[in-house]
Amino acid sequence: MLLKGKDAADGIVSKLLEEDLSGLTLAVFHPLNDGAAESYLKTKEKWLKKINAKIEVVPVDGNMTQDQFFHKLELLNKDSSITGIMVELPLPIKIPEKELLTKINPFKDVDGITYFNQGKIFTSKNEDLIPCTAAASIKLLEHHKIDFAGKNVLVIGRSYIVGLPLFKLFLNRNATPTVAHRGTSNLKDLIHNADIIAVCAGTRGIVRSSEVKDGAAVADVGIHVTEDGKVVGDMIIDRENEETRIDYSPVPGGVGTVTNAMMLHNLVRCRQLQL
Ligand code: NAD
Repeated sequence: MLLKGKDAADGIVSKLLEEDLSGLTLAVFHPLNDGAAESYLKTKEKWLKKINAKIEVVPVDGNMTQDQFFHKLELLNKDSSITGIMVELPLPIKIPEKELLTKINPFKDVDGITYFNQGKIFTSKNEDLIPCTAAASIKLLEHHKIDFAGKNVLVIGRSYIVGLPLFKLFLNRNATPTVAHRGTSNLKDLIHNADIIAVCAGTRGIVRSSEVKDGAAVADVGIHVTEDGKVVGDMIIDRENEETRIDYSPVPGGVGTVTNAMMLHNLVRCRQLQL
C-alpha cells in the first residue's frame, strides 16, 4: 500500500479548525537568495492560510550579525503578538547551535528543537512540541493503522530534528527501535530484519525497496531533487508493484505533506502553552 499523506494531513487540519484559531502568527527567520528556502516559505504561507494564521518573515542575509540575529530573536520571544518561531536552516550566517537551541522561547518553539523541548521528549512521554517531521512520520504510519507495539523498528539517521525524536516516539509506543547512522556496519541486515523503517538519512538509495522484507512499512523522510527536477526520497523503488508487497510513503505526497500539517498543529499548541 502507498502510505499517502494527504488524508492524515487533512485530518489534522480539520481537527484544528474546530478550535479557536484567532490571532495566530508564525515568525520565520528566512535565508535570502536561497531557492530551497524560497520554496519552503511559499509552502509555509500556503498551509498557514488554511487556519488563517499570519506569517512574519525575518529576512536573513550574509550581512546580518549574530548580535542582530539574537536581538531580533529576543524581541520575537517577548512579543505577545507572535505565537511561534521557526528558523529555516541552513542560514547564510554562522549561528552557534547551542545558542540557537537555548535562546528560542520554548513555548514558541514550533519545531520542538530547544533543549527544553528535546529534554521533555527524552525524559517523559510528553509529546507537546515534537519536531514536526518526526511527529509527522508517526502520524502518517498511525493514520494507515501500522501497529508499533513489539515491532522491530529501524530509524536510519540520528539528527535531533528527525531521527532521535523518532527513536523516542517509537519507544513511547512500545516498539523496539534501533537507530542506524554513518558508523553502523550491518545496515543491510538491519534493513532486512525490520518490520518498520523510518529512513531519514538524506542519502538517496540508502534503502532499496527490494531489501525490505515482505509486509514491512517504510516512512521515507528524505527529500532530493534529481537533475531533471523530480522530487524523490531516500528509498529507491527498484522493483515493480512494490506497493502490493510492502507499505511505503511516496515522495512527494507522504511524510512532507503531514509535516506541514504538524507545523500548524504545533503553532496552535504553542499558543495553548502560552496561556
Ligand atoms: P541530517 O544530515 O542532519 O541527518 C542525517 C542523518 O543520517 C545523520 O544522523 C547521519 O548519521 C545519517 N546518515 C546519513 N548518511 C548515512 C549513511 N550512509 N548510513 C547511515 N546513516 C547515514 O539530515 P536531517 O535534517 O535529519 O534530514 C534528513 C533528510 O530528511 C533530508 O533528506 C532532508 O531533506 C529530509 N527532511 C524532510 C522533511 C520532510 O518534511 N519530509 C523535513 C526535514 C528534513
